[in-house]
Amino acid sequence: MKKNEIKAVVVLSGGQDSAICLTLAIKKYGASAVAAITFEYSQRHAIETKYASNLVKRFNIAEHKIIALDFYKELTTNALMTPGEKITRKKNAKCPSTVVEGRNAFFLLAAAVWAKHLGAKVIYTGVSEADFSGYPDCRNDFIKALQKSMRLALDWPIKIETPFMYKTKAEEWALADKLGILDLVKNETVTCYNGIPGEGCKKCPACKLRNRGLKEFEKSRSLTLKVPRGRG
Ligand code: ZN
Repeated sequence: MKKNEIKAVVVLSGGQDSAICLTLAIKKYGASAVAAITFEYSQRHAIETKYASNLVKRFNIAEHKIIALDFYKELTTNALMTPGEKITRKKNAKCPSTVVEGRNAFFLLAAAVWAKHLGAKVIYTGVSEADFSGYPDCRNDFIKALQKSMRLALDWPIKIETPFMYKTKAEEWALADKLGILDLVKNETVTCYNGIPGEGCKKCPACKLRNRGLKEFEKSRSLTLKVPRGRG
């Protein structure tokens, strides 16, 4: 691969959001101009890495890098990195015990460094502040500030694309449907904190959010389908 052939780097976890991001990037730039980066940070649903690799193979994108952030567990603890620990949300807490402090800052900086190396100027990430759990590094203010910092740090005009920043999960499912990847996202991604693919364990907060969004989308779609077509 020649330098500058890659146009976009997708932060690909193997979950619903990143799978749709990958498809959006491919639609815009073509599979041969898209690379993906996946992180292993001792997350208990590490099976998602396998699902990320499956997506890469299926879409035949140019490159995929899996980066081990082994040091993460040395810096912080949380329920997402502690197998078997109960997921809780303390009263008045801004976010649940699954928050991995600073995760998106690490991911996006690593993605940006690699993007510059490849000659790419765009990064895709599936973060959202519409339907989110309260994670501070999913907010638009943070993403904009990080983009500015990374441009200064790298002297490179990197742009962070966040197609879901203000989209609900139901709107995301509608987008997956429009892109023709509804079944793929439904069955071949992992969102569940317990590492169960598809509709998951149905009990953890990630499953509840995903499945509630899917239900809302399916309900609105069936209503749309029932509306008789106009005659003009
Ligand atoms: Zn689950």
